[in-house]
Amino acid sequence: MSKKREMIILEPDGRIRKEAFCSRPMTCPYCNGRGQFFSGIGLPEIECPDCEGTGEVIALVTIDWKPNKEP
Ligand SMILES: [Zn+2]
Repeated sequence: MSKKREMIILEPDGRIRKEAFCSRPMTCPYCNGRGQFFSGIGLPEIECPDCEGTGEVIALVTIDWKPNKEP
């Protein structure tokens, strides 16, 4: 099966600082994008705890540049 990938190229630019990237939205793997779970006939659906009912998740990637100090 084909997979679409996202790539972050690490490159310091100007003054080093913290950087953050947000991925594209992806289908929640826990609820398969439904956002809710069936909890029984006549019962209300349960909101997915991972995507909070949205059916999608995003990844927040933080890059923290540091001086290269010997340990
Ligand atoms: Zn979910």
